[in-house]
Amino acid sequence: MSFAQQSEQTIAQNYDLILDRVKKSRDRFGPAGNQAQQDTTIVAVSKTQPVEKIKPLLDLGHRVFGENRVQEALGKWPALLEKYPGVQLHLVGPLQTNKVRDAVKIFDVIQSLDREKLALALSREIKSRERDIRCFVQVNIGREEQKAGIDPDGAVKFVERCREEHGLDIVGLMCIPPLGEAAGPYFAQLAILAERAGVKCLSMGMSGDFETAMEMGATHVRIGTALFGARQVSR
Ligand SMILES: *Cc1c(COP(=O)(O)O)cnc(C)c1O
Repeated sequence: MSFAQQSEQTIAQNYDLILDRVKKSRDRFGPAGNQAQQDTTIVAVSKTQPVEKIKPLLDLGHRVFGENRVQEALGKWPALLEKYPGVQLHLVGPLQTNKVRDAVKIFDVIQSLDREKLALALSREIKSRERDIRCFVQVNIGREEQKAGIDPDGAVKFVERCREEHGLDIVGLMCIPPLGEAAGPYFAQLAILAERAGVKCLSMGMSGDFETAMEMGATHVRIGTALFGARQVSR
């Protein structure tokens, strides 16, 4: 078997496993766990992964992907989008205002909205391009100095401003809990904030903790390494 075939098979197996684990969590925690009463969306985080590793998932019919860099997405995805209709691309990494124009070209969902200046820039660009883009507000749920996201205390007000003043389509909240700590309590806090903010979606949980996140009501889980294997470059 060639290297490519082998990697294709591994990704297919990983995908089956993840689908199965997500289904099992759904069965255990039920749709009542998430406020949206919706299916759990698996965002396949393909950052740093080459197109050869992304194609097998697309061939299996998966359509929701996440990237964390605008430039990388612009390099990898246009050709794939042409070949595979119906793909929904999520930006899960930080967004600089000078990259907003490019981001709005290629992404369908921005998960990293976390400040006023970005809300303003996004709102202008989305209107001028007449694109239909949904946003998650990223919350710095562990109040970590080095981490992106809005402070939990300001999150509800910020969602309100994004909606009322900037006309943005805010569908949910997103978080990355502190490394090396139990994630459950942070996920629970995000769920409470989402309820107070009146948003239905919760993007939380990655390869190592998505089942915990689902228990706390995740509607979107962001899975990279458990699908694609280790990344080329660590980020
Ligand atoms: C890389 C990344 C993921 C995926 O992480 P894994 O542990 O590889 O599943 C999820 N969310 C964000 C924001 C990321 O940057």
